[in-house]
Amino acid sequence: MRSSLARHPAGRSRGDTLLARLRGDAGSRPAVDPGLAGGLRDWLEDELSEAVAGLPDGTGPVRVTKDALDQVLVCEAHFLSERRQPRQVTTEMARGTLVDLLFRQWVTTGAMGDAWEDAVCALRVGRDDGVLGFVEQLAPDARARLAAEVEEHAARIAECWPILAPSWMARTQERLDVPLAGGRIRLAGVVDLAIGAPSAGQASVCIVEVKSGRRRLEHRGDVHLYALLETLRSGAPPFRVATFYTADGEIDVEPVGRDVLLGALHRVVAGTTKLCRMAAGAEPDRTPNPLCGWCPGLADCVPGRRQVEDSTHTGPVTRP
Ligand code: SF4
Repeated sequence: MRSSLARHPAGRSRGDTLLARLRGDAGSRPAVDPGLAGGLRDWLEDELSEAVAGLPDGTGPVRVTKDALDQVLVCEAHFLSERRQPRQVTTEMARGTLVDLLFRQWVTTGAMGDAWEDAVCALRVGRDDGVLGFVEQLAPDARARLAAEVEEHAARIAECWPILAPSWMARTQERLDVPLAGGRIRLAGVVDLAIGAPSAGQASVCIVEVKSGRRRLEHRGDVHLYALLETLRSGAPPFRVATFYTADGEIDVEPVGRDVLLGALHRVVAGTTKLCRMAAGAEPDRTPNPLCGWCPGLADCVPGRRQVEDSTHTGPVTRP
């Protein structure tokens, strides 16, 4: 029987430090510009009007998620290849799901028993996306390795996250859904953790994404997108966005200014225009890039295969 995880005793712990970084100086949080969210929405609708006009009648809403943006902005054909792939659960995906469930349990209940058993129990009562079946069919040694990994990540969560006071109003797995253009486009996301009361004239919400894998460049774009969605949904931007890495307990925290929101807006416009173009039946562009070697469409993609061949002459590429 594995031991339960306990909170750290009182005193200046990693949890206090993390909370201080998330909270910042409450007095310096920016005042909310009441016209900001409406202005951003108008800007988006205006920029996307041509792409929406090209959608055939009866086309379902074009869903714009962080994964869709990450993929389509790398290569349109890559996005389509990923979508056509049957979903296959990997060890990394299973670990991510199990760690997410433990994070949710820890910040909402402040308790964790046997991390592996708690995570698998939570899987059994949650939405089945294939991870439970994957875990159950693992060979005993592979299952033991995954359990050991999950326990290490759980230990980082317990070490770094303090009890959140009720005034923080912690919400886990919060859905953000922003319809645009009369519902023909839907910007969508699920935030791992949102804390802070709704704004009363001053930005007061902080959004946290949890990652069990290593740092990737696109993680910043993901939280910037959520900052934009939260602004459009609630009328007030979050004051901070953060990414917490359960592998080492590090957290990247960033204030949300206009630069962050405008950067996310331009990214949404660029990606959504491409998604609409393909939803209207256009042939996807192929953009060879350093990730071609991991693309599910590589076998049928001449420029992608050429890219991989060329990169073998210039040295190995490590997936970021
Ligand atoms: S192999 Fe490269 S160029 Fe071809 S579809 Fe995939 S990402 Fe695009």
